[in-house]
Amino acid sequence: MEGYLVNPKNTVEILKRHNIHFQKKFGQNFLVDEHVMKKIINAAQITKDDCVLEIGPGIGTMTQFLCEVSGKVLAVEIDKTLIPVLERTLSDYDNVSVICGDILRQDIKELAEQYNNGRPFKVVANLPYYITTPIIMGFLENDVPVESITVMVQKEVAERMQAGPGSKAYGALSLAVSYYAEAYLAANVPQNCFIPRPNVASAVIRLKKYKEPPVKVKNRELMFALIRASFQQRRKTLCNGIKNNRELNYGREDVERVLEQMGLDKGVRGEVLTLSQFAQMSDILL
Ligand code: SAM
Repeated sequence: MEGYLVNPKNTVEILKRHNIHFQKKFGQNFLVDEHVMKKIINAAQITKDDCVLEIGPGIGTMTQFLCEVSGKVLAVEIDKTLIPVLERTLSDYDNVSVICGDILRQDIKELAEQYNNGRPFKVVANLPYYITTPIIMGFLENDVPVESITVMVQKEVAERMQAGPGSKAYGALSLAVSYYAEAYLAANVPQNCFIPRPNVASAVIRLKKYKEPPVKVKNRELMFALIRASFQQRRKTLCNGIKNNRELNYGREDVERVLEQMGLDKGVRGEVLTLSQFAQMSDILL
């Protein structure tokens, strides 16, 4: 085979040679567009000092590029039928390790100790869409050694991640991401860049984790519980969302008092509040 895997001809050839059938349950859509691949690699800002954690290498399409630009790559693939394929397609590289397993069950701290002297990984992936949010939120919320996350996700999810107050896509995910990381949309990617073709458009987003969150809040859990309650029923006012929420124990008067203190209208909706306003509300209610 000539050149990299990242084109339809070479991808189909490898799949045929190894008799691989796409596993829908694992969200398998392989990238076959070199232009998009280069955009992801550039967006990830990798140097030879970095150890990259790749989630779901598939047949090794992105892994080949990651091996060339980084010091080391650790790739975690759940589908055991792809492991022999990866051994073959990555045989030219001596800076890659492949683990067969579920990324959600890995101890990232231990992997960083084992593969990167305890230093943080740069995460890069064309993510399986069925578990995009748990993967990303797991890396952001838990204190794991990850410094940035550059990933292909559904376009709609990327938009929600970097949406600001007042926009249609703004919600609990936007606020959670903005508390932990700086988000940057690196590229929009049409369906025909993958085999098989997914049903939805995709986008590449880069999240650079903050060392310190941009707002201070006394009780982070309470703030996020308020955020979830405010967005649970989009058409309800923030006051109704919070007072009807079973996770929280506040009545209408409590919420109205806080809104007044903050100079906000009683009928305000969650979608116009900024992260610092949610932090302020949480500190007052505590
Ligand atoms: N990186 C390849 C590419 O860009 O062509 C494949 C991307 S494909 C969208 C997602 C990959 O993630 C598949 O190889 C799939 O088997 C793998 N995967 C799915 N769930 C996973 C999990 N929980 N842990 C690790 N890998 C997973």
